[in-house]
Amino acid sequence: MQNRDGLLLVVSGPAGVGKGTINGLMLERHSDIRMSVSVTTRKPRPGEIEGVHYFYRSEEEFLDMAKRGKFLEYMHVFGSHYYGTPRSFVESELSCGRSVMLEIDVQGALKVKSSFPDALLVFIAPPSMSQLKSRLIGRGTETPEQIERRSATAFEELRHISSFDYVIVNDVIDAAVSRFEAILRAERCRVSRNSDFIESIQKGVQ
Ligand code: 5GP
Repeated sequence: MQNRDGLLLVVSGPAGVGKGTINGLMLERHSDIRMSVSVTTRKPRPGEIEGVHYFYRSEEEFLDMAKRGKFLEYMHVFGSHYYGTPRSFVESELSCGRSVMLEIDVQGALKVKSSFPDALLVFIAPPSMSQLKSRLIGRGTETPEQIERRSATAFEELRHISSFDYVIVNDVIDAAVSRFEAILRAERCRVSRNSDFIESIQKGVQ
């Protein structure tokens, strides 16, 4: 049978590119995908909920978790706050055959790939940098200084696309989501992900 094992989906892309919207639709449409909730030391934004958007912890608590190996990867992002991916959730979901999605920064994605070479690194790109900046301004959650800083970070992040497995241009949201779905379908057809089935038909068992 075609492989249905869990996939580790690591989604990165510049702030304001629409990762959250795309990932939200993917989760709605694919009940077999679980979102990993990161731990952060930043304060919740209005509307954000503990355990849904992030687990909000003090720097001391965060560093203690890091010391105890509780993170798959962690990062000091934008020079001020810590963000980390809890290791146990990812490992236990994957071992139960469920797919896990991480929405993390580019450096974190590259770290995950080095410990899980099978992880799929998906980069969500804006159609253009000017569109990205307008989206950040429209979002209204960042100060002008933060917007400048995030645009500069975006340029830095774009330099790492070549280390990713896939790039999805978010021009129209539904088109971006269907590209993502096509990636998942293709990945499940990879020869390397179907070795048990291949061996069984080669032996004439099936
Ligand atoms: P925000 O503060 O806007 O929620 O997130 C800031 C950045 O941190 C985003 O690029 C987001 O993807 C990234 N991020 C969120 N959680 C994690 C994590 O667990 N690890 C890493 N490396 N980056 C994260």
